[in-house]
Amino acid sequence: MTDLPSHLAGASDDTLLVHAGQTRSIHGETAEAIYLTSGFVYDSAEAAEARFKGEEGGYIYSRYGNPTVSMFEERMAALDGAEGARATASGMAAVNAALMSLVKAGDHVVASRALFGSCRYIIEELLPRFGVETTIVDGSDIDQWGAAVRKNTKLLFLETPSNPTLRLIDLNIVSAIAHGVGALLVVDNVFATPLLQKPFKHGADIVVYSATKHIDGQGRCLGGVVLASREILDGPLKDFYRHTGPSLSPFNAWVLLKGLETLPLRVERQCSNAAAAADLLAGSAHVASVLYPGRADHPDAALVKRQMLGGGTMAAIDFKGGKQAAFAFLNALKLIRISNNLGDSKSLATHPATTTHQRLTPDQRAELGIGDGMVRISFGIEGQKDLLADIDRALASIA
Ligand SMILES: *Cc1c(COP(=O)(O)O)cnc(C)c1O
Repeated sequence: MTDLPSHLAGASDDTLLVHAGQTRSIHGETAEAIYLTSGFVYDSAEAAEARFKGEEGGYIYSRYGNPTVSMFEERMAALDGAEGARATASGMAAVNAALMSLVKAGDHVVASRALFGSCRYIIEELLPRFGVETTIVDGSDIDQWGAAVRKNTKLLFLETPSNPTLRLIDLNIVSAIAHGVGALLVVDNVFATPLLQKPFKHGADIVVYSATKHIDGQGRCLGGVVLASREILDGPLKDFYRHTGPSLSPFNAWVLLKGLETLPLRVERQCSNAAAAADLLAGSAHVASVLYPGRADHPDAALVKRQMLGGGTMAAIDFKGGKQAAFAFLNALKLIRISNNLGDSKSLATHPATTTHQRLTPDQRAELGIGDGMVRISFGIEGQKDLLADIDRALASIA
């Protein structure tokens, strides 16, 4: 665990998210200060020398570290129960830094198929260019992970729940498989949020987030974070981070710090809206199935109970009438807007087959369970009655 002051040791997530990591300047400001500076000055040439040699703490350059960014990193580490964190300019910068800093030519990486599109690019196109072999498995089929690992396997990478089908992968089992061959498990925990799933408690070695999603949660800025042990952060990740420049802007770090303060309130409302809407949608004659991890009919319901602390903020709906019904539904929504973003305080809906997963062939989409009738909704914090009325109206518009 990151070093917390004694009054915060053992505090709940809600308290940590308001207070953890805050440092105050000599002015004693209430809110976190924005240190919008690229560089830092030294009192003497000797002090500069000592800082560069690492003999003295302190900041050198904001590509390496910055006080506002550090507050965000410390707060995230406290929330996830990690030894430390490195913040990045986007979620993809976090994924890229975590993966690229830990592998070299000749290594092998295993990843689940149901990944965020850009993560698939890194795994399937970028890593092989540098001599890293990769194997893609169906993540919910545990036997495939066991069969895929080899002596030179360095990393296992997965997303759970997955986008957009919201299927789960058992972290306890996959982390045991990873550790059995001396590999590390990297978990993209965006869909679960840091509140509803604690991957380090289930054996993960590295956790990555797109902070753009629930952590900002108000559609303002991009950001990301890598959480890991000090050994990884101060070892392979340190030089990669310093010298390739994925650093988060101090201003965006401040936006994300303020986002974290209200994260539990927003996620709680988002989950209750998602649960109520999933039940309403499941009762419609137009709907073939609703995938919501909080429902008893979810294919991984037993694992949801063991691994997650709630059903989440997202649901996927499969309309019987295919693309035509899905589009009619989307076009009739008024409060819920059409957007591929997620985790926002505004409810957002998307048609994965023609947007986020458009690049895939129909066969690849079928393999992932993404049909032409699928709509993914990210639930916001609007009043529940209004959201349900919007969904009712949109359902009624399907011919
Ligand atoms: C959005 C997202 C990312 C990428 O994050 P950006 O902040 O957009 O770079 C990675 N993984 C998942 C699961 C995401 O939803």
